[in-house]
Amino acid sequence: MDRRIGMAKVTPIVPEDLPPGSPVGQLPPQDWMRAAATRAVVAALTAEGAEVRFVGGCVRDALLHRPIRDIDIATRDTPDRVTALLRQAGIRAIPTGIAHGTVTAVIGTAHFEITTLRSDVETFGRHARVEFTDDWTVDAARRDFTINALSCRPDGMIFDPFDGLADLGAGRVRFVGNAMRRIEEDVLRLLRYFRFYAHYGRPPADVDALAACRAQAHKLSGLSGERLRAEVMKLLQAPDPAGVLLLMQGHHVLRHLLPEARDFGRLRVLAFLEMRGLVRPGLGPDILRRLAAVLGADAREAAGVARRLRLSRAETDRLLSLAAPPEMPDADMDERAARRLLHRIGAAGFRDLTLLAWARRKATGDRMPAAEGQRWIDLLDRADAWRPVRLPVHGRDLLDLGIPGGPRIGLFLADMERWWEDGDYRASRAEALAHLRTLVALYRAGEQQ
Ligand code: ATP
Ligand code: MG
Repeated sequence: MDRRIGMAKVTPIVPEDLPPGSPVGQLPPQDWMRAAATRAVVAALTAEGAEVRFVGGCVRDALLHRPIRDIDIATRDTPDRVTALLRQAGIRAIPTGIAHGTVTAVIGTAHFEITTLRSDVETFGRHARVEFTDDWTVDAARRDFTINALSCRPDGMIFDPFDGLADLGAGRVRFVGNAMRRIEEDVLRLLRYFRFYAHYGRPPADVDALAACRAQAHKLSGLSGERLRAEVMKLLQAPDPAGVLLLMQGHHVLRHLLPEARDFGRLRVLAFLEMRGLVRPGLGPDILRRLAAVLGADAREAAGVARRLRLSRAETDRLLSLAAPPEMPDADMDERAARRLLHRIGAAGFRDLTLLAWARRKATGDRMPAAEGQRWIDLLDRADAWRPVRLPVHGRDLLDLGIPGGPRIGLFLADMERWWEDGDYRASRAEALAHLRTLVALYRAGEQQ
């Protein structure tokens, strides 16, 4: 989290004493603003004179030169009017959350969330009764953090009612208004706080925010599994997820979210290897590998985490295979042992476990001999070069030899697999068939006794 943030050059507006609600600067033209789909949506929404602004993540990320994920747009027009304007322009409009004022415009693969300016007049847990407004500052005030309350007109003019620009530059993640109250209104904001801190913050974290999170962490159990999943995944994607999890632990928040997390050192080293320590094609942050890194090697616990985070069947299987594997790669492992493990778990699993085992080793703090790093890299190279091999005999060969179909076939094949493995997967089909015949003959001889 100690990284420098390079901000986009914003042309400031002088003079100093601007009337409230004036723009504070201008963002240079952005590709995503000039893209045909964005221009078409903006043109549709402004066709009859309405003012629209980009809001939320796209403005924040453009200022940091980070890639834009989705584009949120705000307007004074009601959702019905937004829908009509889009349809008039031939743009597909989906009523995603009419009660909260959200319509999604779809052009090809591009999605735009268009939200009517609003204030949350009454909140109950995660739900709010909303009232539409024509005041941009009122809309900004219901947003969670100052860096998320920035907005920008299609001509690049930036509006910053809560000093989000300065906070963004300084790595300060601050609630708009009173942290305690904002979390009371919506406990999801507690997780969003740590998530945004993980991606945009620099230490020290905001004292008021931390105190409010600590005081209300027990309410996290009220969040749905889907919400937990989404937030934990985004949190784990951060450059240094271990640092943030430790911060959450220090403030008694983690016990309400991921009490099973314990190997922070391994997670930290793994994230370092993924992000900076190793430069390999295809290697980057991997959420499930990171989750496995921070859990203890306890299959039941890992299965519990998978259930709580609503992981899919495939995700659960992968998490379990990484968190509690029957066998781990080792820097001292000889070629043959490596091949055997590669054959059993495949190249992807082998790569994951090599990274996890290496991270574990580095995290223990023992001094590692200089050559050991190279041995771990050799294991990764071996996984990259691995081509899957298949047993050169099949069930059909056993049927041809007169063994009736049924469980006996599987037993023979398992024996063959072991023999093949002992021979380091070198046997040709002819050699394998010869051995199979011997096994069958031995079996028959045994049967006759
Ligand atoms: P990203 O999409 O990159 O995760 P984002 O800031 O766009 O980040 P969204 O969840 O898409 O986040 O929400 C868009 C905007 O809506 C936010 O920037 C924030 O202003 C506001 N917002 C979203 N969720 C909340 C919330 N729970 N409480 C208050 N404001 C929120
Ligand atoms: Mg967004």
